[in-house]
Amino acid sequence: MVGYTTGMGEEWVQTIIDIPPQPAPPPNDPVLEAAAAAGLLCDPNFDYEAFAATLGSNTSNQAPSTANSPVARTTFNINLRVPEAWRKTDYSRRTVDEFGDSHLDVGFLRQLKNGLRAIFADAGVNLVFDNPSAASNTRNGSYNLEYREDFSGAVKLFVDKDDLGFTYPDKSGGQVSIERVGLYIPDLAAVGAHEAGHRFLSGFAGLKSGHGGGIMARQLGRGIRYDRFTPDQAAYLRSLGKQ
Ligand SMILES: [Zn+2]
Repeated sequence: MVGYTTGMGEEWVQTIIDIPPQPAPPPNDPVLEAAAAAGLLCDPNFDYEAFAATLGSNTSNQAPSTANSPVARTTFNINLRVPEAWRKTDYSRRTVDEFGDSHLDVGFLRQLKNGLRAIFADAGVNLVFDNPSAASNTRNGSYNLEYREDFSGAVKLFVDKDDLGFTYPDKSGGQVSIERVGLYIPDLAAVGAHEAGHRFLSGFAGLKSGHGGGIMARQLGRGIRYDRFTPDQAAYLRSLGKQ
């Protein structure tokens, strides 16, 4: 991370005096290139050293491996809208109780985001939120997902009584009805991932009228929380970032 630390003044001066000028960094820094490809440079928490370590090339200039490398992952973005009451629950923090024991306290919205991310991670792709530029290299890489108390009036004209989520005809986004799904986070995540899948998987020959196996089943019903993208759906998702 780039930042200032206190008490660095003298050392800093010494460094400037003693060290001969460094050659300019190569323009094709493989670490930064890989980070840019993965969309991580847009991440305010981007940590160059930690990221370089994941490449296994902390000091060398070898090109990053493209096979199964976490940095080669395709990235999708969901622009997420949620009820007002959820917005202040996007946190994950350690708390210490009166006995000195530490607990991880994860807010509702953060749990939902984690649930969505896990479904996409299972397919071998990254999911980010409200960061379209991170998915700019991914075909059909962004989706506008809105969790609402219930469907909007216009959408209600189109949905069946059993429908839990809805994707607009142009597939730019959609809605999930909280009233219909309930407040169980794995179900909310599964329905949201299903709807986003309508955009991300558009063009995939393995779907009939937009639906298929796994999480893309027409009827999710009971047990939807266990659904995932099927291996062929996942392979298609991974292919969308390689251009
Ligand atoms: Zn559907």
